[in-house]
Parts: sequence; structure tokens; C-alpha cells
Amino acid sequence: MLDASQAGCVNHPTKPAVLRCKQCGAGVCKQCIIPGPVGRYCSETCKQQHEAFVQKAQGAEQRVRNKRSIRWSALLRKLVITAGLIVGLGMLGTVFNIPVLSGIVFKIRMILGF
Ligand SMILES: [Zn+2]
Ligand SMILES: [Zn+2]
Repeated sequence: MLDASQAGCVNHPTKPAVLRCKQCGAGVCKQCIIPGPVGRYCSETCKQQHEAFVQKAQGAEQRVRNKRSIRWSALLRKLVITAGLIVGLGMLGTVFNIPVLSGIVFKIRMILGF
């Protein structure tokens, strides 16, 4: 919020500031606003600094998202391998007529629901 002591524009102390620079927080009058895609600033320098910061933050977020999806696909692969193993064991139990083996596999399949 703007308080009385800092209500002037950073470039024109006599003019009232209408907003604060998104990068450095300086008061800016209507005439001095530098508009950008993600905020308004007191100078080109601040605009560039903030845009670089936002881009970096978005890049980091993107990397986290990628990492997360990689973890999910690894989990899915493990699940598929486990399911395949269980089905394979069940077939083995049936083919070689091993009731204990197919019984265990049947129970696991009941629990997992497939
Ligand atoms: Zn600024
Ligand atoms: Zn100004």
C-alpha cells in the first residue's frame, strides 16, 4: 500500500504515484509506468529484471512438472511389470497344475482387482 511519505513518483516527487513498480516497489506516476506482460514497472531495467525472474521461475516449475511425470511413468511401468509377473505366474500355475501357486496368484488378483 502507498503511504503518505512515499506517495510520490520515483521520477517526479511532486506527482502522486498511482502504483508501485512490481520489481523494486518504487512509486510510479501515470506518466512513468512501463507496462509489461506480467506487471507494470518504474523503468525498462526493472521490467527486464522482473521478466527474467518470472521466466526463470516458470522454467523451474516446468522442470519440476517434468520430473513428476517421469516418476509417474516409472511407477506405471513397475505396476505393469508386476501385473505381467502375476499373470505369468498364474499361467504357469495353471499349465503345470500347481494349485498352491495358482491359488496364491488368484488371491493377489482378487486383492488388486484384475
Ligand atoms: Zn522499479
Ligand atoms: Zn513520474
